[in-house]
Amino acid sequence: MIPPQFEYHRASSLEEAIEILSEDPNAKPLAGGQSLIPLLKLRAIAPSKLVDIGRLKELSYIRPEGEGLAIGALTTHWDLERWAGPCGVLSEAARQIGDPQIRAMGTIGGSLAHADPAADWPAVVLALGATIEIKGPSGPREVPAEDFFQGPYTTALQQGELVVGIRISRCPPKASYVKIARSHNDFAIAGVAAALWVKDGVVEEARLAATGVGLKPVRLKRAEESIRGRRATADVLAEVAEAASKEVEPISDVRASAEYRRAMAGIAARRAVRRALGL
Ligand SMILES: Cc1cc2nc3c(=O)[nH]c(=O)nc-3n(C[C@H](O)[C@H](O)[C@H](O)COP(=O)(O)OP(=O)(O)OC[C@H]3O[C@@H](n4cnc5c(N)ncnc54)[C@H](O)[C@@H]3O)c2cc1C
Repeated sequence: MIPPQFEYHRASSLEEAIEILSEDPNAKPLAGGQSLIPLLKLRAIAPSKLVDIGRLKELSYIRPEGEGLAIGALTTHWDLERWAGPCGVLSEAARQIGDPQIRAMGTIGGSLAHADPAADWPAVVLALGATIEIKGPSGPREVPAEDFFQGPYTTALQQGELVVGIRISRCPPKASYVKIARSHNDFAIAGVAAALWVKDGVVEEARLAATGVGLKPVRLKRAEESIRGRRATADVLAEVAEAASKEVEPISDVRASAEYRRAMAGIAARRAVRRALGL
């Protein structure tokens, strides 16, 4: 379908984008366009203005910082797929997103701001304990990923605010992202990211997060507890799977029933832990 009419502004600076967005509540930022353009074509949204932030090169970077990483909002899925530095789980997750065209254009900031309850990045940033860097008319602020996602397509962003970056303070030595989907370029039925810290074969610290199994991405706290302080034996992995499938609250939709998603959450959690540990 043909999108409804809108004004197009190509922002030449972050400040200009924020100014236009904060003046008009019906204006929307345009990053990679891989979620926004389909919505426009379906006429599901009718913004008055699109503020194209796609040329703001200063928002496209991946920088090691101490034990962690800083990522610009406009870093594409493809940039992250090619990333070979710390937090290798980013590359593993990126290559499971959509198809090459989507990955070439879509951005991590756009994906987080869009907050699709089945998107891949939200689970990954939750497991990594990331902070979302935001800039708006009142200046910059940082929101922990846990507080950023508030519901389906709903985030902590206020009018005029943009996601400008993602900060991970500590890359986990062992991590993995496992996605179970109907086909390679489809959204997750269940996706689980696992970040683990291991000493002498014992999992000292675990952060697990899931997507596709609720109205927003969730930490799998009971699954984390079931492995913390223990070795990843077959019995412990079975406990991880059981805990994960019990603690999620999926809904049924065209892709899968709630029951099936629940079962897949358990399987994805077990696989993510096993893959992270190289088992
Ligand atoms: C066929 C298809 C398959 C896909 N498969 C997957 C998949 O398997 N997994 C997955 O996770 N995703 C998938 N996607 C979505 C894709 O990852 C998008 O790239 C992503 O959701 C949005 O990023 P974008 O840069 O394209 O944002 P856009 O489409 O430009 O914007 C998305 C929304 O976020 C807002 N926005 C964008 N950038 C910012 C910012 N910096 N600050 C504040 N608001 C902002 C926009 O106003 C809009 O509301 C798929 C998309 C398609 C079309």
